[in-house]
Amino acid sequence: MDDKQFFSKNLLAWHRDHHRPMPWKGERDPYKIWLSEIILQQTRVEQGLPYYEKFLAAYPTVRRLADAPLDAVLKNWEGLGYYSRARNLHTAARYIANALGGAFPDHYDGIRALKGVGDYTAAAIASFAYDLPYAVLDGNVYRVLARFFGIDTPIDSTPAKKEFAALAQSLLDVRAPGAYNQAIMDFGAGHCTPRQPACTDCPLGPRCVARQSGQVAQLPVRKKAMAKRVRFFAYGVFEHRNTVWLRRRDGKDIWQQLYEFPLLELPETPADTATLPPLLVRHFFPAGLPEGLEVQAVSKTYRQTLSHQIIQAVFIEFKMPDDLKAVDFQKTRLAEYAQIEQFKLKKILAVPRIIDWYWQEKALTLRLV
Ligand code: SF4
Repeated sequence: MDDKQFFSKNLLAWHRDHHRPMPWKGERDPYKIWLSEIILQQTRVEQGLPYYEKFLAAYPTVRRLADAPLDAVLKNWEGLGYYSRARNLHTAARYIANALGGAFPDHYDGIRALKGVGDYTAAAIASFAYDLPYAVLDGNVYRVLARFFGIDTPIDSTPAKKEFAALAQSLLDVRAPGAYNQAIMDFGAGHCTPRQPACTDCPLGPRCVARQSGQVAQLPVRKKAMAKRVRFFAYGVFEHRNTVWLRRRDGKDIWQQLYEFPLLELPETPADTATLPPLLVRHFFPAGLPEGLEVQAVSKTYRQTLSHQIIQAVFIEFKMPDDLKAVDFQKTRLAEYAQIEQFKLKKILAVPRIIDWYWQEKALTLRLV
């Protein structure tokens, strides 16, 4: 038996004894598999599970998802991060409902063509739903293969994709591609883990190059991590009775389609946040300060780490004049925003997590005083 045969045979045997049940495992409905795979991208199973259940309850079919307003889908996604996943789900559901007559594609290329579906997700859906012979390649698979076969090509380099994809495909058990894919993913997630893999009790151990050569901690290899871009957001929370000013973010930046307060992004982090209120006033009211506008409070600095960026945000609370008729909005930058009732922030509109943190703490403070 060569190394590849040894690998596949022992992996499947391991999986028979270590099967971890999940609501989507063994599922054949491509819609449910797709939903679970998109939710689980960049998300831990424990965190994704309630969202999977919530989405299935709200949108039991692809048509129901397609018919839902985007704001409602984003609200249901709130807290999970990487909102492009929810926007793409919605776009793809509409495409399936309208262009494909509601029938989920049943071949790899058709699945891969759906918005937000990459090679990995297409292989997972094709193999789990239709038993098509496509090997999955995700972070878990890269790690297991790099260690077992002793491959030191940086896994985030261009040549790695080709090298690992060819190897993964050659290992696939074409008689049971779905079971094989599930096995290698579970093995990476639960046994050959990034830190402290269970090498001493490993069915692949006798032929694992990393273990035999003492390189488990060094594999897989990554190129040097890129430094994250640090950004500073000064938000103006302009309140008038039970309303605030908000807009939906668009363009190519982070948090597309999520709602936010009036924003002034600064080129660098200010030394003292007490300097922010006059800056915001000048920015949003270039024609002069409206009579009756008051600065109420300056929040602490909130910090959210994204995959490539670190966002720091301070919220400056303003009380708008009682009589808004006196404000010429066309001469202010608030004209780009809409005056919206505050309860919608909590119940209906999806906001970035950093805004949610601030808004929840503010509500708590109001209850305490
Ligand atoms: S011996 Fe260790 S490194 Fe090798 S496959 Fe098993 S768990 Fe992974």
